[in-house]
Amino acid sequence: RAKEQGRDRIQHYLTGMNAGEKIRMKLERELRLALKQQQLELHYQPQVDLVDGRIFGVEALLRWHHPQRGMISPGEFIPLAEETGLIVPIGEWVLATACRQAMAWQAQGLPPLKMAVNLSPRQFQLPGLVAQVAKALKMADLPPEYLELELTESLLMRDVEAAIEAMKGLRKLGVSLSIDDFGTGYSSLSYLQHFPLNQLKIDRAFVNDVHLKPGAGAIARAIIAMSKSLQLRVVAEGIETAEQLVFLRTHQCDQGQGYYFSRPLPAREITALLQHRPCFEIPTLNKTEPAG
Ligand code: C2E
Ligand code: MG
Ligand code: MG
Ligand code: MG
Repeated sequence: RAKEQGRDRIQHYLTGMNAGEKIRMKLERELRLALKQQQLELHYQPQVDLVDGRIFGVEALLRWHHPQRGMISPGEFIPLAEETGLIVPIGEWVLATACRQAMAWQAQGLPPLKMAVNLSPRQFQLPGLVAQVAKALKMADLPPEYLELELTESLLMRDVEAAIEAMKGLRKLGVSLSIDDFGTGYSSLSYLQHFPLNQLKIDRAFVNDVHLKPGAGAIARAIIAMSKSLQLRVVAEGIETAEQLVFLRTHQCDQGQGYYFSRPLPAREITALLQHRPCFEIPTLNKTEPAG
């Protein structure tokens, strides 16, 4: 009887669901399988030194090759993975795969790259995170200085004390820490000095309009200046044009990534890029500027 009642309740639940909820549940089931059936893949986007054009690192970006729907972007499934907790096993796979790939490139004799990996809030709050990162490094035999973890502002601001503790634990391993999409969250600037950080990434929104809208340019310049005075590295994300690049260079932004240089690429295409074109040309700064 209890069983029957249970079944009734489930039936009631299912018929009470709207179309959107049903699609979500289907997607959740499929995402569960995606990991097992190896439908997930990492692409890597070069990170470029804006002074000499050298590729010094890559950011790992998750891709889902859905058997029917084709490629699904992380913007669509990461939030679902986050809500359902699937981000935990997926994140573990991402860390392990990214570390292994970084070491594979080194083993091929390519110049060592820094590997940047995104962490979502749920992953960051995981009690076993430090152990998980340590395990990924150890399994891949990757020295910790080649791993950088990207965190978001909103994640850090939820519980500042806890965030600082977690960050300290990660720094003790020897990995570096970066704030992603900087400028879009709500971080209180006064906390910034207390976070054991290595880098800020200027959000694409500001980079996009950097030379078009005075406001965006001013914010980008302020983030660059603040990074320098806090002795943090600064990376501009989403550079698409030479104009954006020249603006950022003129204002002393050290590093960048974006379609201007390269889209995120599968590992084998990064290998080819590193072998044939490890340096990009950086357009010269404004001609009216004094030389030197
Ligand atoms: P993000 O970490 O801020 O990554 C940058 C996003 O901007 C990537 O989108 C990248 O493909 C895109 N992008 C890079 N250069 C340009 C450009 O010049 N123009 C434009 N319009 N876009 C550019 P993607 O790969 O769709 O990833 C979206 C977000 O999903 C990421 O934002 C990150 O927050 C999340 N994500 C991706 N992979 C992972 C992962 O393995 N774990 C977690 N937790 N989150 C991930
Ligand atoms: Mg990122
Ligand atoms: Mg970003
Ligand atoms: Mg972003």
